[in-house]
Amino acid sequence: MKTAIRTAILTISAAFCTTGSYAQEPAATTTAETAIVAANTAPAETPAAAVATTNTKPAPVAPVKELDNKPLVVDTLPSINEAIKIVLFNDNTWRYVRDREIPQDSSIYVKYWDSTIISPYREVELSSLPQSVAIALVDSLKSYHYPYKGRISSHYGPRRRRNHNGVDLPLKEGDPVYATFDGRVRFSQDTKTGYGNLVIIRHDNGLETYMGHLSKRLVEAGDWVTAGQIVALGGSTGRSTGPHLHFETRYYGQSFDPERLIDFSSGMLRRETFLLKRSYFDIYSKYDQNFEDEIANEEDDKREAAEEAAKRYYVVRKGDTLSGIAVKYHTTVTRICQLNGINRNKTLSIGKRLRVR
Ligand SMILES: [Zn+2]
Repeated sequence: MKTAIRTAILTISAAFCTTGSYAQEPAATTTAETAIVAANTAPAETPAAAVATTNTKPAPVAPVKELDNKPLVVDTLPSINEAIKIVLFNDNTWRYVRDREIPQDSSIYVKYWDSTIISPYREVELSSLPQSVAIALVDSLKSYHYPYKGRISSHYGPRRRRNHNGVDLPLKEGDPVYATFDGRVRFSQDTKTGYGNLVIIRHDNGLETYMGHLSKRLVEAGDWVTAGQIVALGGSTGRSTGPHLHFETRYYGQSFDPERLIDFSSGMLRRETFLLKRSYFDIYSKYDQNFEDEIANEEDDKREAAEEAAKRYYVVRKGDTLSGIAVKYHTTVTRICQLNGINRNKTLSIGKRLRVR
């Protein structure tokens, strides 16, 4: 029986699905393995070259199931890649997971790794970062969970004298705060700064997420975490006037508006692959503003489409004159010449297509 299941699973895995289910009664006796290792592929060690992606609005990505609903592990199978295992759960589903014991071919957790300071990227010049970089946020091995779902009380951007490098999400003291993606805790300290109790997670995709004002930190620097894991409890430590989560997204130390990634009111990830542009690191570059630009572009497109639809053409016949055509189409010779880039003395050749409107 078990051999048959394994064969079926491995066949499915060849199709490279994210997760799957297998037709089988859950085993009566399940091993109570609850800890599931993180599950991500190794990202490029330096910012990848810009990748041309069409940045049209994709369907948002739902967060992974919360931990308390997580099914129990029944069995773990090898895959072609020795660092990736297939884990079978007692609810007949399966998932690829990365075995963290096997070193990754990546320096993401080595280079600029310092668990004693908030920002280890000081020597990285903004100008050395690529103009744009495509970041795979979720795929067959990468999951997502919102850090906290709720209303934003303060957006990213300039705020009086001090810049606001993240978003503020009001919460109740003690509310759980989740890891957004799989990764490793780079920093976890009571900072005695404005951040108060701060947890910084570096993710396999190269991003770092900052969670500040926490009442309690549940992870320590060096811990591996999975998306959806509760890493801290919300609070009001540091420079804070009431319980809220201060959440930042950074790339090589440069912050950008977290709303570009996450719709915090629904908790949904906006896209699977995020095209991070260097221009986003400007404190004035906000998601909303970008959205308005998109609307403006859409308006332009509509206007152009309308103009295109309003165009009229006339095919020149024997005996036609420019003035005759102008009269016929209630326009002027000057206008027809403008539209077609011709001189009013031009001899009209029969069969020529003239734009008249
Ligand atoms: Zn804040």
